[in-house]
Amino acid sequence: MFGFLQKVGDYTKDAVGAANYITQGLSVTFDHLRRRPITVQYPYEKLIPSERYRGRIHYEFDKCISCEVCVRVCPINLPVVDWVMNKETKKKELKNYSIDFGVCIFCGNCVEYCPTNCLSMTEEYELAAFDRHSLNYDNVALGRLPTSVTSDPAVVPLRELAYLPKGEMDPHGVDPTRARAGKLPEQVQAEMAAAAAQTAEKA
Ligand code: SF4
Ligand code: SF4
Repeated sequence: MFGFLQKVGDYTKDAVGAANYITQGLSVTFDHLRRRPITVQYPYEKLIPSERYRGRIHYEFDKCISCEVCVRVCPINLPVVDWVMNKETKKKELKNYSIDFGVCIFCGNCVEYCPTNCLSMTEEYELAAFDRHSLNYDNVALGRLPTSVTSDPAVVPLRELAYLPKGEMDPHGVDPTRARAGKLPEQVQAEMAAAAAQTAEKA
């Protein structure tokens, strides 16, 4: 009899303990409902990509010298540089240039190594298409002006976390004129120059 009562007592204690933990957990869960959801309401709101964001590649036909460096540094030798040798001028003549964005991994190697800077990364990332062949951009498509989140009147641009003012965690309602947290590159350079000058004085 005593053993049975002991078991009932233990069971009740465990049940009360479990109910206690569940109540604590639920109170934390319900507390989250009181907070404003930090959700980007795409496509009406969009985050502004960072300065070094690697979006769709932009290409300038007039600057390209058909050197094919972009092909050699590409992990999959992707850019197609279509040129012929002009025997009269003894120079390469560029006919066409294309990059297939269905295959590109947006590593940016081609942009880094292009000697004439005719390739650049844009902030355009909405490239979805119904037909994979339409992702193969020729030099005309690559030369198009990229779309921009900040210039689209139908979109509310939101700053990414690293671009928010000090102490802000939510991009909603942040005054766009407020400076981002951290120092500007010129401030860091000035500090480094001042520190170097001090060291030189001491020596
Ligand atoms: S971004 Fe990378 S994968 Fe795409 S074409 Fe350039 S080098 Fe090749
Ligand atoms: S590296 Fe630049 S200049 Fe050379 S072929 Fe590629 S895009 Fe043209």
